[in-house]
Amino acid sequence: MSLDTPVKGCLHTPVLRERGQREVFCGLTGIIWLHRKMQDAFFLVVGSRTCAHLLQSAAGVMIFAEPRFGTAILEEKDLAGLADAHEELEREVARLLSRRPDIRQLFLVGSCPSEVIKLDLGRTAERLNQRHAPHVRVYNYSGSGIETTFTQGEDACLAAMVPGLAETDAENLLVVGALPDVVEDQCLSLLHQMGVDQVQLLPARRAADAPKVGSRTRFILTQPFLADTAAALERRGAERIAAPFPFGEEGTTAWLNAVAHARGVHPERFEKVTAAPRARARRAVAAHAETLRGKSLFFFPDSQLEIPLARFLARECGMRPLEVGTPYLHRALMEPELALLPETALSEGQDVDLQLDRHAALAPDLTVCGLGLANPLEAAGHPTKWAIELVFTPVHFYEQAGDLAGLFSRPLRRRAILSGEVR
Ligand code: SF4
Repeated sequence: MSLDTPVKGCLHTPVLRERGQREVFCGLTGIIWLHRKMQDAFFLVVGSRTCAHLLQSAAGVMIFAEPRFGTAILEEKDLAGLADAHEELEREVARLLSRRPDIRQLFLVGSCPSEVIKLDLGRTAERLNQRHAPHVRVYNYSGSGIETTFTQGEDACLAAMVPGLAETDAENLLVVGALPDVVEDQCLSLLHQMGVDQVQLLPARRAADAPKVGSRTRFILTQPFLADTAAALERRGAERIAAPFPFGEEGTTAWLNAVAHARGVHPERFEKVTAAPRARARRAVAAHAETLRGKSLFFFPDSQLEIPLARFLARECGMRPLEVGTPYLHRALMEPELALLPETALSEGQDVDLQLDRHAALAPDLTVCGLGLANPLEAAGHPTKWAIELVFTPVHFYEQAGDLAGLFSRPLRRRAILSGEVR
């Protein structure tokens, strides 16, 4: 299919809204990719041993490097209100910063326990800022499972940084969302070849490269889960460039085209820059589409990547989405995607038992879900794809389009090999 193929999209599709029990990681998970991205940042979770275990098991133990995340564990006396946890936290931070002069940005990350005992991390961050600025900038945000699902941790983190960004009157473009460095470099190279200059990144790799923002700033999201960050940038006067997200050949082309349009790039130059990588991406996807074409697909809500990925899998790989569930549907951000997504059932939020019933009745060929559901579904004979892999694997832009399709074709091929259908 091409960009201008008429489809009856999902713009007017009714959305099933469920607010029951959900099976999703909390926002602390974002620290795993954010600490790799921001090379002079430290993430200090103010939480319990459970929070520390989640981080350790999700990120692995760093033996050789100085870690750039940790947990200030709230002990029973803190939880019982017998100790002043604010004071202890400030003492721990002072100790950490004196030992680690390489830290330039410190994030105090709230958790379920810190919220339950109402620790005021905002005020603590303010006090610490007074003491440690300008060498260290201290932010706070919540990654608690009460308030956030897993990709919302990144949104909360980036949104917390926006009020502190320096003001500018200059025209600039902000590319927003944490991408692996190699993917970010590809994106910057394409924009550079198109003649788009004054490009800045949020988050920047280092505090000194933090972007500036003002009323002539245009920004574009690379991740669909950054609604609060987008709102914070708009409050600073920046204007969002609406676009589908850069997944697959079509999504990447539409994303770049939206920037080209905003910046007045000549169509001939756009064509010249994108023709070769588009062709490469199409070829790479086609190799996997053979396995995926005609197969049905069910998304449980997890990462907020569900709608863009369903669009990619339907339009470029020929799959048939039966239900696309997402934790939150931010209509303003998702409109360009909904317009392209072939008609399917949409759901927002979760009532896991009801959704499992619908899933069992539909018996899709492939199910995308969180870790908690994947094992029982596999045991019941349903091939699954772990949604968390989609945020840990480089999947954006042209050069990753084939790998993205491969993440979905692999479980189907494995299943076919095990059952003896193919060798
Ligand atoms: Fe568990 Fe809450 Fe800690 Fe997340 S923040 S690990 S949900 S206790």
